[in-house]
Amino acid sequence: MTPEADLNVDPRAPKGANFDPAELAKFSALAHRWWDPTSEFRPLHEINPLRLAHIEKLAGGLEGKRVVDVGCGGGILAEAMAAKGAKVTGIDLADKPLKVAMLHRIESGSGVDYRLISAEAFAEESPGAFDVVTCMEMLEHVPEPPSTVRACAKLVKRGGLVVFSTLNRNAKSFLLAIVGAEYVLQLLPKGTHEYARFIRPSELSRACRDAGLAVTDLTGMTYNPFTKTYSLGRDVDVNYLLATRRD
Ligand code: SAH
Repeated sequence: MTPEADLNVDPRAPKGANFDPAELAKFSALAHRWWDPTSEFRPLHEINPLRLAHIEKLAGGLEGKRVVDVGCGGGILAEAMAAKGAKVTGIDLADKPLKVAMLHRIESGSGVDYRLISAEAFAEESPGAFDVVTCMEMLEHVPEPPSTVRACAKLVKRGGLVVFSTLNRNAKSFLLAIVGAEYVLQLLPKGTHEYARFIRPSELSRACRDAGLAVTDLTGMTYNPFTKTYSLGRDVDVNYLLATRRD
């Protein structure tokens, strides 16, 4: 079976383009609340310090590094990496989140360069241009994740770091990420995630290897509903981050 078959290529995707207009519309509709830490984007704000520290450690520091954040949305991670001294480009295919990111950049003076371009097209334009590529909470919204993985592999220079984060696919992730997060705790709007698009670490690892990326780290992220806090650790059953190096 091809990795594409493993990863449920969505037949609704426009031919030749690796995006789902309905997914982009979902993020555009909420974009004005992106930087409100009590909004639908609260989880992204809360996980941000954790993932930032994790990426910084894997990269051996971000100061002076050229970084591209693929599927950057309103720029929560992109700005945080820029604040650590990285030269960051943020790309996304939804225009409203990008507009919000550009407005926020005026306020924060973060200097992130934002572009409305697909990962695939940007990789054609700037192959091997980046020390670090991040692609967080995006693959589960994309019709053909392996194509995005290949684009990330093309964007990074040899020996460079590529970090993905997404949702695992199993009974527990269905219960916690969809029933728990969207219906019981209402941390996310209903319909944010589609179970069939969740990606097992084994599937993502295979897509990475096929793209010339060697997997170097797999770390889980868990939410404790009692303390309302997130932490990183060994439990990769629901949310996880997969780090790779370009061969
Ligand atoms: N990575 C950011 C935002 C996650 S939300 C963060 O973790 O803080 C998911 C983002 O992926 C949205 O901004 C959405 O517009 C974007 N996205 C979804 N499909 C995409 C595609 N095919 N190409 C580029 N961006 C996409």
